[in-house]
Amino acid sequence: MKKHNFNAGPSILPREVIEQTAQSVLDFQGEGLSILEISHRAKYFQPVVDEAVALFKELLEIPEGYSVIFLGGGASLQFCMVPYNLMEKKAAYLNTGTWANKALKEARLFGDAVEVASSKDANYTYIPKDYQIPTDADYFHITTNNTIYGTEIRTDMDSPVPLVADMSSDILSRPVDVSKYGLIYGGAQKNLAPAGVTFVIVKEDLLGHVSRPIPTMLDYRTHVQNGSMFNTPPVLPIYTAMLTLRWLKANGGMKGAEERNIAKANLLYDAIDKSRMFVGTVKAEDRSRMNICFVMKPEYKELEADFMQFATEHGMVGIKGHRSVGGFRASCYNALPIESVKALVDCMNEFERKH
Ligand SMILES: *Cc1c(COP(=O)(O)O)cnc(C)c1O
Repeated sequence: MKKHNFNAGPSILPREVIEQTAQSVLDFQGEGLSILEISHRAKYFQPVVDEAVALFKELLEIPEGYSVIFLGGGASLQFCMVPYNLMEKKAAYLNTGTWANKALKEARLFGDAVEVASSKDANYTYIPKDYQIPTDADYFHITTNNTIYGTEIRTDMDSPVPLVADMSSDILSRPVDVSKYGLIYGGAQKNLAPAGVTFVIVKEDLLGHVSRPIPTMLDYRTHVQNGSMFNTPPVLPIYTAMLTLRWLKANGGMKGAEERNIAKANLLYDAIDKSRMFVGTVKAEDRSRMNICFVMKPEYKELEADFMQFATEHGMVGIKGHRSVGGFRASCYNALPIESVKALVDCMNEFERKH
């Protein structure tokens, strides 16, 4: 039976990207060697990093003055690297969920990290709108897509201080005005590559202003100056990321990706809104296109386990909601075809007819 992969992360990648990655493990570009056994400094690999950086810049139309670097440690290491490198005394954070909270917690180790607003009062089902960004903060940190709760900030906001964004789960899902941001980071395993590589897009003139000493590996300048090759980078995940970037380019770039993501999200949210049984969990205007969360209405609550089983029997994978929300979460990342969303909607409709 065909599987429909709604996993939240690590998650679906384009089939052809997986096939090309598999081929490179057997024989990298006809060299008679596996990508797993070549030097990262080899003539073979430098062009891969160069192409990945160039495609990132091209697809997101990244302006001059920004560097794209690939690191290890996941988005979680960025929770500490950002304040390490950018926060002298004070930073501001928008608390929109679990990941935002974790970022805030790390920042508190470095100085006065203030929470400007939080939607914790309503289990993070909306994005706070009325808040002031302190102008004496060194930066303002947001999480553009809240993977667990299914909310998303899609406006590239104006900020009086450098804007730092965790875009782990919505990077490359829409055009972004990178000039509005000082730094964008994310783990690649949601929308780009297998786990193991982290991307950072950083405005170079923000670096070098804090007075604390920074360990070499945690200093962005090390990686900017060495083109992500200061130490051995995650070779295979970077290669796969490069292939995914090529795939995005060949499929209409960011405009194409955004159109497909809107079509998929509309299809599923419409089905949820029309349903007698299911209901969305977040405020309509803040709904994520990437992670679509829904539960059963109170009068049908006891059918949740039955639907879970029914959907699994019909090939749906990874639709169980995160334990802090419950119900269901369908992650509809770039590589998920609309056919999978249609299959899920059919499944929901059929289940409803039967009960
Ligand atoms: C998954 C996720 C993270 C954590 O990423 P790691 O690479 O596992 O550290 C952080 N932020 C967001 C928004 C995420 O979705």
